[in-house]
Amino acid sequence: MIAVVGSINVDLSAQVARHPRPGETLHGRGGRMTPGGKGANQAVAAAKLGGSVQMIGAIGTDAQAEVGLSGLRAAGVGLDGVREVEGPTGLAIVTVAEDGENTIVVIGGANDAVDAAQVKASREVLEGAAIVVCQGEIPRGGIEALPAHVQGRFLHNPAPVMELDPAVLRASDPLVVNEHEAALVLAQLSPETDPTQQPEQIASALRDAGIASVVLTLGAQGSLVADADGSHRIPAAPVTAVDTTGAGDAFIGALAVGLAGGQSLPVAARFASQVGAFAATGHGAQPSYPGTDDELPQLDG
Ligand code: ADP
Repeated sequence: MIAVVGSINVDLSAQVARHPRPGETLHGRGGRMTPGGKGANQAVAAAKLGGSVQMIGAIGTDAQAEVGLSGLRAAGVGLDGVREVEGPTGLAIVTVAEDGENTIVVIGGANDAVDAAQVKASREVLEGAAIVVCQGEIPRGGIEALPAHVQGRFLHNPAPVMELDPAVLRASDPLVVNEHEAALVLAQLSPETDPTQQPEQIASALRDAGIASVVLTLGAQGSLVADADGSHRIPAAPVTAVDTTGAGDAFIGALAVGLAGGQSLPVAARFASQVGAFAATGHGAQPSYPGTDDELPQLDG
């Protein structure tokens, strides 16, 4: 079983020709509210790919709560660990430009209540999980309480990056980060390291800083896996991206399914690369994720 501890949001999405500059107003299209949040996205991605998934998180008491839960429900994610807290559900305001690049403002809402006490209350689920997945859209206390209850692997995606106890960063196995996040984590663990390095050097610096395994995601360039067996470049699948929102979350959900199924990290990352590329070809986050019947794009090597 895979336990995902993290955010449940509603995404309010606007398609624009280009991103507005500060002070500028542009016409957009869209305006639909869809289920999102890194935690829920990763849980949905894993469940749609056949994983058995339990979600630990929080929703608010507003009308958006049902939208936030809709994708989790449809994918068959276990919701016993999701509690309701007074106030708004988490909200992400997304703009997607014609080239597929996005900008996102996240408002935590109920996610800010996923604290150490809630993690402790979920310890049975956590201790029974082969993989515990978490991201950076819940409070620091909730994340820092996790490693004590992980008996399988701790798949840690510190996005957005916050200041964390170095022991929690070092418990990650794997740490999954893009280049920007990798530089911020490295600055915490090893401030003397030059952050402007090639991916291979960044991953190996993170390993030298005490992280057992690292997956560095590189967008359309694929990813890089570094663990005790060495470092492996994982190619991307060549696709025409229409919206990369949630592609990284699809990658992580797939990685969790591969690892829970006993795959090695490089093999799971190849599967994740196919799933991330598939997600980039559809609009939105969860609605763009593949099911077990979908044909995945082949990798470029
Ligand atoms: P994040 O959104 O967290 O920054 P990335 O953009 O690096 O993450 O995407 C995560 C993974 O999804 C990549 O490593 C890659 O495998 C896949 N992916 C993302 N964008 C594309 C794309 N345009 N074409 C093919 N694969 C992609």
